[in-house]
Amino acid sequence: MSDVSARDLSVVLDGRTVLSGVGLQVRGGDWLAVIGANGAGKSTLLKAVAGVLPYSGEVLIDGTPVRRLKPRERARLLAYAPQSPALPADMTVFDYALLGRTPYIPYLGRESRHDRDVTASVLDRLDLAPFADRTLGHLSGGERQRVVLARALAQQAPVLLLDEPTTALDLGHQQQVLELVDRLRLADGLTVVTTLHDLSVAGQYADSMMLISGGRVAASGAPADVLTEKLIDTHFGARVRVATGPDGRPGVHLERP
Ligand code: ADP
Ligand code: MG
Repeated sequence: MSDVSARDLSVVLDGRTVLSGVGLQVRGGDWLAVIGANGAGKSTLLKAVAGVLPYSGEVLIDGTPVRRLKPRERARLLAYAPQSPALPADMTVFDYALLGRTPYIPYLGRESRHDRDVTASVLDRLDLAPFADRTLGHLSGGERQRVVLARALAQQAPVLLLDEPTTALDLGHQQQVLELVDRLRLADGLTVVTTLHDLSVAGQYADSMMLISGGRVAASGAPADVLTEKLIDTHFGARVRVATGPDGRPGVHLERP
């Protein structure tokens, strides 16, 4: 299991400070949900942790600064599924998911039988087996989102970074994806960091939460400490009622003003 932490992360894009002084700590095997209004900086935070954009500060996995790792080493430790990546329209679902195996395939070599088996099994678990030979240009939004997730899961990294993994999914597939990630977390000890715009979903799956506002950490802690009516009013401008469910987890319900 891998601990993930970040110290004093800041990101400047086009001369604008989009993320400022963000710190986080996730214990190996835990699930952190990052929440915040549109434009708060959630995707930027995930990209910085994934190392796909320049940042100041430090991201550490088990105490090792990620920026010191070679891309291949980093890809074995950390899998990242972007919110809506550009997908090559002519590539098949299978070949795209197989890209997740790249860090294990020797330079100038071919994928092994094992790489293909892992890929096939991930596609199967995401209901994508029937789509394996279809090209990405011919998929629905929800199918595309599951393919992006499949690539990240095929990477079999101990740290999984998922940016809004369920936005395009119907309710059944939302539950399937979240349950699958949670099962992998429990079975294999994956450390999971997701942005999730659905606050009730976030409260249901996360061990801890972080609320980002204007590129800074506005609150962090247990779901019940972050999902409060006051914080949601202040940072989302939404009137809600928070009710604790029988499992002790907070549920967020919109109230008519
Ligand atoms: P979130 O995921 O919370 O909705 P983002 O992290 O995508 O927010 O974006 C945070 C802020 O950074 C937004 O105001 C967005 O417009 C801005 N932003 C994102 N990318 C760029 C960019 N390349 N140049 C300038 N500003 C950007
Ligand atoms: Mg985003």
